[in-house]
Amino acid sequence: MHQATRPDPSPADLDAAAAPAAACTSAPAEGQSASDRAALAPSPFAALGLAPELAAALQELGYEEPTPIQRAAIPPLLAGRDLLGRAATGTGKTAAFALPLIQAADGTPPAPGRPRVLVLVPTRELAMQVAAAIHRYGRARAATVLPVYGGQSIWQQVRVLDRGVEAVVATPGRAADHLERGTLSLEDVRFVVLDEADEMLDMGFAEDIEAILARAPAARQTALFSATMAPRIRALAERHLRDPVRVEIERERAAPGEVPRVRQVAYVVQRAHKLAALGRVLDMETPNSAIVFCRTRLEVDDVTEAMNSRGYRAEALHGGLPQEQRDRVLARFRENRTDLLVATDVAARGLDIEHVSHVVNLDVPTEPESYVHRIGRTGRAGREGVAITFVEPRERRLLASIQDATRLKIRLETIPTAADLSNRRLDQTRASLAEALSAGGLDRYRAVLEGLSAEADVLDVAAAAVKLAHEALHPEGAEEPDIAPVVEPPPRARRGARDGARREPAPRPHEAPRGETAWTRLQVSAGRFQSIRPGDLVGAIAGETGLPSGVIGAIQIADRSSFVDVAVEHAGAISDALRRTKIRGRRVQVREVDLRR
Ligand code: AMP
Repeated sequence: MHQATRPDPSPADLDAAAAPAAACTSAPAEGQSASDRAALAPSPFAALGLAPELAAALQELGYEEPTPIQRAAIPPLLAGRDLLGRAATGTGKTAAFALPLIQAADGTPPAPGRPRVLVLVPTRELAMQVAAAIHRYGRARAATVLPVYGGQSIWQQVRVLDRGVEAVVATPGRAADHLERGTLSLEDVRFVVLDEADEMLDMGFAEDIEAILARAPAARQTALFSATMAPRIRALAERHLRDPVRVEIERERAAPGEVPRVRQVAYVVQRAHKLAALGRVLDMETPNSAIVFCRTRLEVDDVTEAMNSRGYRAEALHGGLPQEQRDRVLARFRENRTDLLVATDVAARGLDIEHVSHVVNLDVPTEPESYVHRIGRTGRAGREGVAITFVEPRERRLLASIQDATRLKIRLETIPTAADLSNRRLDQTRASLAEALSAGGLDRYRAVLEGLSAEADVLDVAAAAVKLAHEALHPEGAEEPDIAPVVEPPPRARRGARDGARREPAPRPHEAPRGETAWTRLQVSAGRFQSIRPGDLVGAIAGETGLPSGVIGAIQIADRSSFVDVAVEHAGAISDALRRTKIRGRRVQVREVDLRR
Protein backbone atom coordinates (compact mmCIF):
# COMPACT_ATOMS: atom_id res chain seq x y z
CA MET A 1 0.00 0.00 0.00
CA HIS A 2 1.30 3.41 0.82
CA GLN A 3 4.58 4.30 2.41
CA ALA A 4 3.13 4.52 5.87
CA THR A 5 2.78 0.79 6.37
CA ARG A 6 6.30 -0.20 5.37
CA PRO A 7 8.30 -1.57 8.27
CA ASP A 8 11.23 0.60 7.25
CA PRO A 9 9.62 4.00 7.07
CA SER A 10 10.67 6.21 4.27
CA PRO A 11 9.23 9.59 3.55
CA ALA A 12 6.56 9.56 0.94
CA ASP A 13 7.62 11.19 -2.25
CA LEU A 14 4.89 13.64 -3.00
CA ASP A 15 5.99 14.53 -6.47
CA ALA A 16 5.47 11.01 -7.72
CA ALA A 17 2.77 11.97 -10.18
CA ALA A 18 2.72 14.97 -12.44
CA ALA A 19 -0.44 17.01 -11.97
CA PRO A 20 -2.90 16.56 -14.78
CA ALA A 21 -3.85 19.68 -16.70
CA ALA A 22 -6.36 21.63 -14.67
CA ALA A 23 -9.12 21.52 -17.24
CA CYS A 24 -11.50 22.62 -14.54
CA THR A 25 -10.10 26.13 -14.55
CA SER A 26 -10.41 26.93 -18.24
CA ALA A 27 -12.96 29.51 -19.31
CA PRO A 28 -16.09 28.34 -21.16
CA ALA A 29 -15.91 28.84 -24.91
CA GLU A 30 -18.56 30.37 -27.10
CA GLY A 31 -21.39 28.25 -28.37
CA GLN A 32 -21.24 25.58 -25.68
CA SER A 33 -24.34 24.00 -24.25
CA ALA A 34 -25.25 24.60 -20.64
CA SER A 35 -24.08 21.11 -19.77
CA ASP A 36 -20.68 21.64 -21.39
CA ARG A 37 -20.29 24.84 -19.46
CA ALA A 38 -21.16 23.03 -16.27
CA ALA A 39 -18.44 20.50 -16.98
CA LEU A 40 -15.91 23.30 -17.46
CA ALA A 41 -17.05 25.44 -14.54
CA PRO A 42 -14.20 26.46 -12.21
CA SER A 43 -13.38 23.72 -9.75
CA PRO A 44 -15.20 24.35 -6.48
CA PHE A 45 -11.91 23.52 -4.76
CA ALA A 46 -10.01 26.16 -6.72
CA ALA A 47 -12.74 28.60 -5.69
CA LEU A 48 -11.62 28.10 -2.06
CA GLY A 49 -8.19 29.39 -3.01
CA LEU A 50 -6.47 26.06 -3.63
CA ALA A 51 -3.79 25.91 -6.29
CA PRO A 52 -4.90 24.41 -9.61
CA GLU A 53 -2.70 21.34 -9.27
CA LEU A 54 -4.13 20.54 -5.83
CA ALA A 55 -7.68 21.04 -7.09
CA ALA A 56 -6.84 18.76 -10.01
CA ALA A 57 -5.48 16.08 -7.66
CA LEU A 58 -8.80 16.10 -5.82
CA GLN A 59 -10.67 15.77 -9.06
CA GLU A 60 -8.53 12.75 -9.85
CA LEU A 61 -9.53 11.24 -6.52
CA GLY A 62 -13.14 11.59 -7.66
CA TYR A 63 -14.10 14.36 -5.22
CA GLU A 64 -16.82 16.53 -6.71
CA GLU A 65 -17.14 19.34 -4.20
CA PRO A 66 -15.76 20.36 -0.81
CA THR A 67 -17.44 19.04 2.32
CA PRO A 68 -18.81 21.69 4.73
CA ILE A 69 -15.75 21.55 7.00
CA GLN A 70 -13.50 21.98 3.96
CA ARG A 71 -15.53 24.92 2.71
CA ALA A 72 -15.32 26.57 6.12
CA ALA A 73 -11.74 25.73 7.09
CA ILE A 74 -9.65 25.92 3.92
CA PRO A 75 -9.89 29.68 3.18
CA PRO A 76 -8.92 30.87 6.69
CA LEU A 77 -6.13 28.30 6.94
CA LEU A 78 -4.80 29.45 3.56
CA ALA A 79 -4.93 33.00 4.88
CA GLY A 80 -2.68 32.00 7.79
CA ARG A 81 -5.32 32.03 10.53
CA ASP A 82 -5.42 29.64 13.48
CA LEU A 83 -8.47 27.42 13.53
CA LEU A 84 -10.61 25.69 16.12
CA GLY A 85 -12.78 23.13 14.37
CA ARG A 86 -15.49 20.91 15.72
CA ALA A 87 -15.68 18.00 13.33
CA ALA A 88 -15.80 14.25 13.74
CA THR A 89 -13.91 11.75 11.63
CA GLY A 90 -15.71 11.19 8.35
CA THR A 91 -16.46 14.85 7.68
CA GLY A 92 -13.42 15.31 5.43
CA LYS A 93 -11.41 17.20 8.04
CA THR A 94 -8.10 15.62 7.06
CA ALA A 95 -8.18 17.26 3.65
CA ALA A 96 -9.40 20.47 5.32
CA PHE A 97 -6.08 20.88 7.12
CA ALA A 98 -3.83 18.87 4.79
CA LEU A 99 -4.50 20.89 1.64
CA PRO A 100 -3.58 24.30 3.12
CA LEU A 101 -0.42 22.94 4.69
CA ILE A 102 0.61 21.28 1.45
CA GLN A 103 -0.03 24.52 -0.41
CA ALA A 104 2.08 26.44 2.11
CA ALA A 105 5.14 24.22 1.53
CA ASP A 106 7.68 26.34 -0.32
CA GLY A 107 9.53 23.48 -2.02
CA THR A 108 12.89 24.07 -0.31
CA PRO A 109 14.40 20.94 1.27
CA PRO A 110 13.68 20.62 5.00
CA ALA A 111 16.67 20.44 7.37
CA PRO A 112 17.55 17.06 8.96
CA GLY A 113 15.34 16.31 11.95
CA ARG A 114 13.50 19.61 11.55
CA PRO A 115 10.07 19.19 9.94
CA ARG A 116 8.00 22.26 9.08
CA VAL A 117 4.66 20.66 9.79
CA LEU A 118 3.71 18.68 12.88
CA VAL A 119 0.40 16.84 13.08
CA LEU A 120 -0.43 15.20 16.42
CA VAL A 121 -2.96 12.36 16.38
CA PRO A 122 -4.12 9.97 19.12
CA THR A 123 -3.31 6.59 17.57
CA ARG A 124 -0.85 4.80 15.37
CA GLU A 125 -3.69 3.88 13.03
CA LEU A 126 -4.60 7.51 12.56
CA ALA A 127 -0.96 8.52 12.14
CA MET A 128 -0.71 6.15 9.21
CA GLN A 129 -4.03 7.27 7.74
CA VAL A 130 -3.28 10.96 8.00
CA ALA A 131 0.22 10.53 6.57
CA ALA A 132 -1.24 8.56 3.67
CA ALA A 133 -3.88 11.26 3.13
CA ILE A 134 -1.28 14.05 3.07
CA HIS A 135 0.63 11.97 0.56
CA ARG A 136 -2.48 11.46 -1.57
CA TYR A 137 -3.64 15.07 -1.53
CA GLY A 138 -0.19 16.44 -2.17
CA ARG A 139 0.93 14.24 -5.02
CA ALA A 140 1.56 17.26 -7.18
CA ARG A 141 3.92 18.93 -4.70
CA ALA A 142 7.47 18.00 -3.80
CA ALA A 143 7.19 17.41 -0.08
CA THR A 144 7.65 14.46 2.23
CA VAL A 145 5.67 13.07 5.15
CA LEU A 146 6.58 10.58 7.86
CA PRO A 147 4.24 8.85 10.32
CA VAL A 148 5.84 8.47 13.74
CA TYR A 149 4.29 6.27 16.38
CA GLY A 150 5.16 3.93 19.22
CA GLY A 151 5.77 0.26 18.68
CA GLN A 152 8.00 0.87 15.68
CA SER A 153 11.79 0.98 15.93
CA ILE A 154 12.73 4.47 17.01
CA TRP A 155 16.04 4.22 15.14
CA GLN A 156 14.37 3.57 11.82
CA GLN A 157 12.34 6.70 12.40
CA VAL A 158 15.48 8.62 13.32
CA ARG A 159 17.15 7.56 10.07
CA VAL A 160 14.29 8.96 8.02
CA LEU A 161 13.96 12.11 10.12
CA ASP A 162 17.66 12.72 9.53
CA ARG A 163 17.13 12.77 5.80
CA GLY A 164 14.73 15.68 6.33
CA VAL A 165 10.95 15.53 6.01
CA GLU A 166 8.43 18.29 5.42
CA ALA A 167 5.72 16.89 7.69
CA VAL A 168 5.69 14.57 10.69
CA VAL A 169 2.41 12.94 11.75
CA ALA A 170 2.96 11.64 15.25
CA THR A 171 1.33 10.25 18.33
CA PRO A 172 2.16 12.56 21.28
CA GLY A 173 4.02 9.89 23.26
CA ARG A 174 6.43 9.08 20.48
CA ALA A 175 6.86 12.73 19.46
CA ALA A 176 7.75 13.63 23.06
CA ASP A 177 10.19 10.74 23.11
CA HIS A 178 11.99 12.02 19.99
CA LEU A 179 12.10 15.54 21.42
CA GLU A 180 13.68 14.29 24.65
CA ARG A 181 16.27 12.33 22.73
CA GLY A 182 17.02 15.30 20.53
CA THR A 183 16.21 13.33 17.39
CA LEU A 184 13.41 15.72 16.47
CA SER A 185 13.49 19.49 16.62
CA LEU A 186 10.48 21.75 16.24
CA GLU A 187 12.51 24.88 15.55
CA ASP A 188 11.41 25.09 11.93
CA VAL A 189 7.77 24.16 12.54
CA ARG A 190 5.37 26.61 10.92
CA PHE A 191 2.17 24.63 11.13
CA VAL A 192 0.86 22.48 13.99
CA VAL A 193 -2.33 20.43 13.81
CA LEU A 194 -3.93 18.78 16.85
CA ASP A 195 -6.23 16.20 15.31
CA GLU A 196 -8.90 14.47 17.41
CA ALA A 197 -7.76 16.52 20.38
CA ASP A 198 -10.51 15.15 22.62
CA GLU A 199 -9.31 11.60 22.00
CA MET A 200 -5.73 12.62 22.77
CA LEU A 201 -6.78 14.10 26.11
CA ASP A 202 -8.90 11.05 26.89
CA MET A 203 -5.90 8.86 26.31
CA GLY A 204 -3.88 10.77 28.89
CA PHE A 205 -1.67 12.67 26.45
CA ALA A 206 -2.32 16.12 27.97
CA GLU A 207 1.16 16.46 29.47
CA ASP A 208 2.90 15.28 26.35
CA ILE A 209 0.94 17.75 24.23
CA GLU A 210 1.88 20.61 26.52
CA ALA A 211 5.54 19.58 26.46
CA ILE A 212 5.52 19.37 22.67
CA LEU A 213 3.76 22.68 22.07
CA ALA A 214 6.11 24.42 24.49
CA ARG A 215 8.93 23.56 22.09
CA ALA A 216 7.24 24.75 18.90
CA PRO A 217 7.93 28.33 17.80
CA ALA A 218 5.37 30.87 18.98
CA ALA A 219 5.14 32.31 15.47
CA ARG A 220 3.39 29.35 13.97
CA GLN A 221 -0.06 28.53 12.67
CA THR A 222 -2.14 26.08 14.72
CA ALA A 223 -5.29 24.16 13.91
CA LEU A 224 -7.16 22.12 16.50
CA PHE A 225 -9.87 19.63 15.58
CA SER A 226 -12.08 17.87 18.06
CA ALA A 227 -15.41 16.06 17.92
CA THR A 228 -16.51 17.86 21.08
CA MET A 229 -15.90 21.31 22.51
CA ALA A 230 -15.63 20.21 26.14
CA PRO A 231 -14.16 22.79 28.56
CA ARG A 232 -10.78 21.02 28.49
CA ILE A 233 -10.63 21.44 24.73
CA ARG A 234 -11.55 25.11 24.97
CA ALA A 235 -8.85 25.58 27.61
CA LEU A 236 -6.29 23.85 25.40
CA ALA A 237 -7.32 26.08 22.49
CA GLU A 238 -7.11 29.18 24.66
CA ARG A 239 -3.56 28.36 25.67
CA HIS A 240 -2.21 27.48 22.25
CA LEU A 241 -4.29 29.12 19.51
CA ARG A 242 -4.14 32.80 18.56
CA ASP A 243 -7.46 34.42 17.76
CA PRO A 244 -8.71 31.29 16.01
CA VAL A 245 -11.48 31.11 13.46
CA ARG A 246 -14.14 28.82 14.92
CA VAL A 247 -15.83 26.28 12.73
CA GLU A 248 -18.65 24.21 14.15
CA ILE A 249 -20.30 22.28 11.40
CA GLU A 250 -22.50 19.94 13.33
CA ARG A 251 -24.31 22.44 15.45
CA GLU A 252 -26.86 23.34 12.83
CA ARG A 253 -29.95 21.32 13.50
CA ALA A 254 -31.83 19.74 10.66
CA ALA A 255 -35.60 20.07 10.72
CA PRO A 256 -36.88 16.93 12.40
CA GLY A 257 -40.00 15.01 11.54
CA GLU A 258 -39.83 15.76 7.83
CA VAL A 259 -39.19 12.17 6.91
CA PRO A 260 -42.30 10.05 6.79
CA ARG A 261 -42.38 6.29 7.18
CA VAL A 262 -38.75 5.51 6.63
CA ARG A 263 -37.20 2.52 8.38
CA GLN A 264 -33.67 3.62 9.16
CA VAL A 265 -30.92 1.13 9.81
CA ALA A 266 -27.16 1.34 10.04
CA TYR A 267 -24.51 -1.36 9.79
CA VAL A 268 -21.01 -0.99 11.19
CA VAL A 269 -18.54 -2.54 8.81
CA GLN A 270 -14.84 -2.30 8.02
CA ARG A 271 -14.11 -0.40 4.85
CA ALA A 272 -12.59 -3.49 3.21
CA HIS A 273 -15.87 -5.39 3.61
CA LYS A 274 -18.21 -2.66 2.48
CA LEU A 275 -18.93 -3.86 -1.03
CA ALA A 276 -19.59 -7.41 0.16
CA ALA A 277 -21.83 -6.05 2.91
CA LEU A 278 -23.72 -3.85 0.46
CA GLY A 279 -24.36 -6.79 -1.86
CA ARG A 280 -25.57 -8.96 0.98
CA VAL A 281 -27.83 -6.34 2.51
CA LEU A 282 -29.34 -5.53 -0.89
CA ASP A 283 -29.95 -9.24 -1.53
CA MET A 284 -31.75 -9.48 1.80
CA GLU A 285 -33.80 -6.35 1.21
CA THR A 286 -34.64 -7.04 -2.45
CA PRO A 287 -35.26 -3.37 -3.20
CA ASN A 288 -37.58 -2.44 -6.02
CA SER A 289 -35.56 0.56 -6.84
CA ALA A 290 -32.68 1.99 -4.85
CA ILE A 291 -30.30 4.92 -4.87
CA VAL A 292 -26.84 4.18 -3.49
CA PHE A 293 -24.99 7.34 -2.45
CA CYS A 294 -21.19 7.41 -2.59
CA ARG A 295 -18.68 10.09 -1.71
CA THR A 296 -16.57 10.05 -4.83
CA ARG A 297 -16.81 9.32 -8.53
CA LEU A 298 -14.33 6.49 -8.15
CA GLU A 299 -16.53 4.85 -5.52
CA VAL A 300 -19.56 5.26 -7.77
CA ASP A 301 -17.76 3.41 -10.55
CA ASP A 302 -16.55 0.63 -8.22
CA VAL A 303 -19.97 0.07 -6.68
CA THR A 304 -21.70 0.08 -10.07
CA GLU A 305 -19.33 -2.53 -11.39
CA ALA A 306 -19.58 -4.72 -8.29
CA MET A 307 -23.38 -4.63 -8.19
CA ASN A 308 -23.66 -5.36 -11.90
CA SER A 309 -21.56 -8.43 -11.44
CA ARG A 310 -23.82 -9.42 -8.55
CA GLY A 311 -26.74 -9.46 -10.96
CA TYR A 312 -28.27 -6.03 -10.39
CA ARG A 313 -28.99 -3.61 -13.16
CA ALA A 314 -26.93 -0.77 -11.72
CA GLU A 315 -26.03 2.51 -13.38
CA ALA A 316 -23.59 5.23 -12.38
CA LEU A 317 -24.47 8.90 -12.05
CA HIS A 318 -21.77 11.42 -11.27
CA GLY A 319 -20.49 14.81 -12.30
CA GLY A 320 -17.79 13.35 -14.51
CA LEU A 321 -20.32 12.04 -17.02
CA PRO A 322 -21.57 14.10 -19.96
CA GLN A 323 -24.99 15.63 -19.36
CA GLU A 324 -26.65 13.54 -22.09
CA GLN A 325 -25.48 10.35 -20.49
CA ARG A 326 -26.72 11.53 -17.10
CA ASP A 327 -30.11 12.30 -18.64
CA ARG A 328 -30.28 8.83 -20.17
CA VAL A 329 -29.32 7.14 -16.90
CA LEU A 330 -31.97 9.12 -15.04
CA ALA A 331 -34.64 8.36 -17.62
CA ARG A 332 -33.94 4.62 -17.37
CA PHE A 333 -34.07 4.77 -13.59
CA ARG A 334 -37.30 6.74 -13.64
CA GLU A 335 -38.88 4.16 -15.96
CA ASN A 336 -37.78 1.40 -13.58
CA ARG A 337 -35.48 -0.14 -16.15
CA THR A 338 -32.56 -0.06 -13.71
CA ASP A 339 -32.59 -1.44 -10.17
CA LEU A 340 -29.87 0.68 -8.64
CA LEU A 341 -28.82 4.22 -9.26
CA VAL A 342 -25.33 4.69 -7.86
CA ALA A 343 -24.68 8.40 -7.43
CA THR A 344 -22.72 11.18 -5.80
CA ASP A 345 -24.67 13.84 -3.92
CA VAL A 346 -23.83 16.44 -6.50
CA ALA A 347 -25.14 14.42 -9.42
CA ALA A 348 -28.31 13.41 -7.58
CA ARG A 349 -29.10 16.96 -6.49
CA GLY A 350 -32.62 17.98 -7.35
CA LEU A 351 -33.48 14.44 -8.37
CA ASP A 352 -37.15 13.81 -7.77
CA ILE A 353 -38.26 10.24 -8.28
CA GLU A 354 -41.43 8.82 -6.79
CA HIS A 355 -40.83 5.13 -6.55
CA VAL A 356 -37.50 4.82 -4.70
CA SER A 357 -37.92 2.03 -2.13
CA HIS A 358 -34.41 2.17 -0.64
CA VAL A 359 -31.80 4.83 -0.08
CA VAL A 360 -28.36 3.53 0.77
CA ASN A 361 -25.54 5.63 2.21
CA LEU A 362 -22.31 3.84 1.47
CA ASP A 363 -20.66 6.22 3.94
CA VAL A 364 -22.11 8.34 6.70
CA PRO A 365 -23.05 11.68 5.10
CA THR A 366 -20.78 14.51 6.23
CA GLU A 367 -23.61 16.59 7.68
CA PRO A 368 -27.08 16.00 9.15
CA GLU A 369 -28.86 18.00 6.44
CA SER A 370 -27.43 15.76 3.80
CA TYR A 371 -28.67 12.65 5.64
CA VAL A 372 -32.16 14.06 5.96
CA HIS A 373 -32.20 15.21 2.36
CA ARG A 374 -31.02 11.86 1.05
CA ILE A 375 -33.46 9.72 2.99
CA GLY A 376 -36.27 12.07 2.02
CA ARG A 377 -35.93 10.50 -1.42
CA THR A 378 -37.71 7.38 -0.20
CA GLY A 379 -40.94 6.80 1.70
CA ARG A 380 -42.83 9.02 -0.72
CA ALA A 381 -46.52 8.95 -1.51
CA GLY A 382 -47.44 7.04 1.61
CA ARG A 383 -45.21 4.08 0.79
CA GLU A 384 -42.79 2.73 3.34
CA GLY A 385 -39.17 3.46 2.53
CA VAL A 386 -35.93 2.10 3.88
CA ALA A 387 -32.75 4.06 4.54
CA ILE A 388 -29.57 2.03 5.02
CA THR A 389 -26.30 3.54 6.18
CA PHE A 390 -22.93 1.81 6.27
CA VAL A 391 -20.70 3.10 9.03
CA GLU A 392 -16.98 2.50 9.34
CA PRO A 393 -15.93 2.03 12.97
CA ARG A 394 -14.20 5.40 12.92
CA GLU A 395 -17.39 7.09 11.71
CA ARG A 396 -19.53 6.04 14.67
CA ARG A 397 -19.32 9.43 16.29
CA LEU A 398 -20.37 11.11 13.08
CA LEU A 399 -23.45 8.88 12.97
CA ALA A 400 -24.18 9.68 16.62
CA SER A 401 -23.93 13.39 15.89
CA ILE A 402 -26.39 13.01 12.99
CA GLN A 403 -28.83 11.22 15.26
CA ASP A 404 -28.42 13.98 17.84
CA ALA A 405 -28.92 16.76 15.36
CA THR A 406 -31.87 15.24 13.52
CA ARG A 407 -33.45 13.40 16.44
CA LEU A 408 -34.10 10.56 14.02
CA LYS A 409 -33.95 7.00 15.23
CA ILE A 410 -31.41 4.96 13.32
CA ARG A 411 -31.23 1.32 14.42
CA LEU A 412 -27.87 -0.37 14.50
CA GLU A 413 -28.13 -3.87 13.05
CA THR A 414 -25.59 -6.58 12.37
CA ILE A 415 -24.73 -7.53 8.80
CA PRO A 416 -26.71 -10.59 7.79
CA THR A 417 -24.62 -13.74 7.65
CA ALA A 418 -24.17 -15.96 4.60
CA ALA A 419 -26.60 -18.39 6.29
CA ASP A 420 -29.19 -15.61 6.74
CA LEU A 421 -28.92 -14.85 3.07
CA SER A 422 -29.24 -18.47 2.08
CA ASN A 423 -32.41 -18.78 4.20
CA ARG A 424 -33.78 -15.61 2.73
CA ARG A 425 -33.26 -16.95 -0.77
CA LEU A 426 -35.12 -20.12 0.13
CA ASP A 427 -37.96 -17.92 1.42
CA GLN A 428 -38.00 -16.10 -1.88
CA THR A 429 -38.19 -19.37 -3.77
CA ARG A 430 -41.02 -20.47 -1.50
CA ALA A 431 -42.84 -17.22 -2.19
CA SER A 432 -42.39 -17.61 -5.94
CA LEU A 433 -43.73 -21.18 -5.79
CA ALA A 434 -46.70 -20.04 -3.72
CA GLU A 435 -47.40 -17.41 -6.36
CA ALA A 436 -47.19 -19.98 -9.15
CA LEU A 437 -49.55 -22.24 -7.19
CA SER A 438 -52.16 -19.56 -6.82
CA ALA A 439 -51.79 -18.52 -10.47
CA GLY A 440 -52.87 -22.01 -11.53
CA GLY A 441 -52.40 -23.36 -15.09
CA LEU A 442 -50.41 -26.34 -13.74
CA ASP A 443 -52.12 -29.16 -15.63
CA ARG A 444 -49.25 -29.72 -18.06
CA TYR A 445 -46.84 -30.09 -15.16
CA ARG A 446 -49.15 -32.35 -13.13
CA ALA A 447 -48.85 -34.87 -15.93
CA VAL A 448 -45.05 -34.88 -15.50
CA LEU A 449 -45.45 -35.33 -11.76
CA GLU A 450 -47.89 -38.18 -12.16
CA GLY A 451 -45.45 -39.93 -14.51
CA LEU A 452 -42.60 -39.62 -12.01
CA SER A 453 -44.67 -40.56 -8.99
CA ALA A 454 -44.71 -44.16 -10.14
CA GLU A 455 -40.93 -44.33 -9.61
CA ALA A 456 -40.34 -41.99 -6.68
CA ASP A 457 -41.92 -40.52 -3.62
CA VAL A 458 -44.02 -37.50 -4.63
CA LEU A 459 -42.39 -35.32 -1.99
CA ASP A 460 -38.95 -36.15 -3.35
CA VAL A 461 -40.06 -35.27 -6.85
CA ALA A 462 -41.47 -31.99 -5.59
CA ALA A 463 -38.21 -31.31 -3.69
CA ALA A 464 -36.22 -31.88 -6.89
CA ALA A 465 -38.49 -29.42 -8.68
CA VAL A 466 -37.99 -26.86 -5.88
CA LYS A 467 -34.23 -27.35 -6.20
CA LEU A 468 -34.33 -26.61 -9.92
CA ALA A 469 -36.54 -23.59 -9.39
CA HIS A 470 -34.27 -22.34 -6.60
CA GLU A 471 -31.15 -22.69 -8.71
CA ALA A 472 -32.81 -20.91 -11.61
CA LEU A 473 -34.01 -18.07 -9.39
CA HIS A 474 -30.69 -17.72 -7.57
CA PRO A 475 -27.92 -18.74 -9.92
CA GLU A 476 -24.78 -19.65 -8.09
CA GLY A 477 -22.57 -16.58 -7.87
CA ALA A 478 -19.21 -16.13 -6.25
CA GLU A 479 -19.00 -17.68 -2.80
CA GLU A 480 -20.18 -15.33 -0.05
CA PRO A 481 -17.09 -13.90 1.63
CA ASP A 482 -16.72 -13.71 5.39
CA ILE A 483 -17.56 -10.28 6.72
CA ALA A 484 -15.77 -9.88 10.03
CA PRO A 485 -17.99 -8.51 12.79
CA VAL A 486 -16.76 -5.25 14.24
CA VAL A 487 -15.83 -5.26 17.92
CA GLU A 488 -18.12 -2.89 19.81
CA PRO A 489 -16.12 -0.44 21.89
CA PRO A 490 -17.28 0.08 25.45
CA PRO A 491 -19.77 2.93 25.56
CA ARG A 492 -17.21 5.71 26.06
CA ALA A 493 -15.69 3.85 29.02
CA ARG A 494 -12.46 5.67 28.28
CA ARG A 495 -13.99 9.09 28.80
CA GLY A 496 -12.61 11.21 31.54
CA ALA A 497 -9.49 9.12 32.00
CA ARG A 498 -6.68 11.45 32.75
CA ASP A 499 -3.50 11.02 34.62
CA GLY A 500 -4.28 8.74 37.53
CA ALA A 501 -8.01 9.25 37.15
CA ARG A 502 -10.27 6.35 37.86
CA ARG A 503 -12.17 5.13 34.89
CA GLU A 504 -15.68 3.76 34.84
CA PRO A 505 -15.41 -0.01 35.20
CA ALA A 506 -16.35 -1.98 32.10
CA PRO A 507 -19.10 -4.61 32.27
CA ARG A 508 -17.91 -8.00 33.49
CA PRO A 509 -17.79 -10.83 30.98
CA HIS A 510 -20.71 -12.76 32.45
CA GLU A 511 -22.78 -9.58 32.43
CA ALA A 512 -22.08 -8.64 28.83
CA PRO A 513 -25.39 -8.43 27.00
CA ARG A 514 -25.68 -10.27 23.71
CA GLY A 515 -23.84 -8.59 20.90
CA GLU A 516 -21.60 -6.56 23.19
CA THR A 517 -17.94 -7.10 23.85
CA ALA A 518 -16.99 -9.49 26.62
CA TRP A 519 -14.32 -8.01 28.89
CA THR A 520 -11.59 -9.38 31.01
CA ARG A 521 -9.16 -7.63 33.34
CA LEU A 522 -5.38 -7.64 33.19
CA GLN A 523 -3.21 -6.85 36.18
CA VAL A 524 0.06 -5.11 35.32
CA SER A 525 2.88 -5.10 37.87
CA ALA A 526 3.44 -1.35 38.00
CA GLY A 527 1.28 1.38 39.46
CA ARG A 528 1.22 4.80 41.07
CA PHE A 529 4.52 4.27 42.87
CA GLN A 530 6.16 3.70 39.50
CA SER A 531 4.47 6.86 38.09
CA ILE A 532 2.30 4.86 35.72
CA ARG A 533 -0.52 6.82 34.03
CA PRO A 534 -3.44 5.44 32.00
CA GLY A 535 -1.92 7.04 28.92
CA ASP A 536 1.23 4.91 29.33
CA LEU A 537 -0.82 1.72 29.24
CA VAL A 538 -3.07 2.82 26.39
CA GLY A 539 -0.07 4.08 24.45
CA ALA A 540 1.86 0.84 24.98
CA ILE A 541 -1.10 -1.31 23.94
CA ALA A 542 -2.06 0.79 20.92
CA GLY A 543 1.56 1.17 19.85
CA GLU A 544 2.54 -2.47 20.21
CA THR A 545 -0.59 -4.17 18.92
CA GLY A 546 -2.05 -1.63 16.52
CA LEU A 547 -5.47 -2.47 17.95
CA PRO A 548 -8.02 0.35 18.05
CA SER A 549 -8.42 2.02 21.44
CA GLY A 550 -11.98 0.67 21.61
CA VAL A 551 -10.71 -2.74 22.74
CA ILE A 552 -9.47 -1.10 25.96
CA GLY A 553 -11.98 -0.43 28.70
CA ALA A 554 -11.62 0.87 32.22
CA ILE A 555 -8.15 1.46 33.69
CA GLN A 556 -7.43 1.70 37.41
CA ILE A 557 -4.07 2.63 38.82
CA ALA A 558 -3.34 1.18 42.27
CA ASP A 559 -0.15 1.73 44.28
CA ARG A 560 1.94 -1.08 42.83
CA SER A 561 -0.34 -2.48 40.12
CA SER A 562 -2.61 -1.27 37.39
CA PHE A 563 -5.77 -2.94 36.12
CA VAL A 564 -6.77 -2.70 32.50
CA ASP A 565 -10.06 -4.05 31.16
CA VAL A 566 -9.65 -5.40 27.64
CA ALA A 567 -11.85 -7.19 25.12
CA VAL A 568 -11.56 -10.91 25.88
CA GLU A 569 -10.67 -11.84 22.33
CA HIS A 570 -7.62 -9.56 22.38
CA ALA A 571 -6.48 -10.34 25.93
CA GLY A 572 -3.72 -12.72 24.81
CA ALA A 573 -2.25 -10.36 22.24
CA ILE A 574 -2.43 -7.43 24.66
CA SER A 575 -0.75 -9.36 27.51
CA ASP A 576 2.03 -10.45 25.18
CA ALA A 577 2.50 -6.92 23.92
CA LEU A 578 2.69 -5.47 27.43
CA ARG A 579 5.27 -8.07 28.43
CA ARG A 580 7.34 -7.32 25.33
CA THR A 581 7.55 -3.60 25.79
CA LYS A 582 8.84 -1.31 28.52
CA ILE A 583 6.46 0.97 30.36
CA ARG A 584 8.03 4.04 31.92
CA GLY A 585 11.36 2.36 31.24
CA ARG A 586 10.60 -0.89 33.03
CA ARG A 587 9.55 -4.38 32.09
CA VAL A 588 6.26 -5.49 33.62
CA GLN A 589 4.51 -8.72 34.48
CA VAL A 590 0.96 -9.22 33.32
CA ARG A 591 -1.68 -11.65 34.50
CA GLU A 592 -5.36 -12.06 33.82
CA VAL A 593 -7.67 -11.51 36.79
CA ASP A 594 -10.77 -13.65 37.06
CA LEU A 595 -13.57 -11.10 37.11
CA ARG A 596 -16.18 -13.56 38.36
CA ARG A 597 -14.69 -13.92 41.81
P1 AMP B 1 -11.87 12.29 7.05
O1 AMP B 1 -13.00 12.87 7.84
O2 AMP B 1 -10.82 13.28 6.77
O3 AMP B 1 -11.36 11.02 7.65
O4 AMP B 1 -12.47 11.92 5.59
C1 AMP B 1 -13.47 10.98 5.41
C2 AMP B 1 -13.50 10.41 4.00
O5 AMP B 1 -14.06 11.34 3.09
C3 AMP B 1 -12.17 10.01 3.43
O6 AMP B 1 -12.32 8.70 2.92
C4 AMP B 1 -11.90 10.98 2.30
O7 AMP B 1 -11.24 10.34 1.24
C5 AMP B 1 -13.29 11.40 1.90
N1 AMP B 1 -13.37 12.81 1.45
C6 AMP B 1 -12.76 13.89 1.99
N2 AMP B 1 -13.12 15.00 1.33
C7 AMP B 1 -13.98 14.64 0.36
C8 AMP B 1 -14.71 15.35 -0.67
N3 AMP B 1 -14.62 16.68 -0.79
N4 AMP B 1 -15.52 14.64 -1.48
C9 AMP B 1 -15.60 13.30 -1.35
N5 AMP B 1 -14.96 12.57 -0.42
C10 AMP B 1 -14.15 13.22 0.43
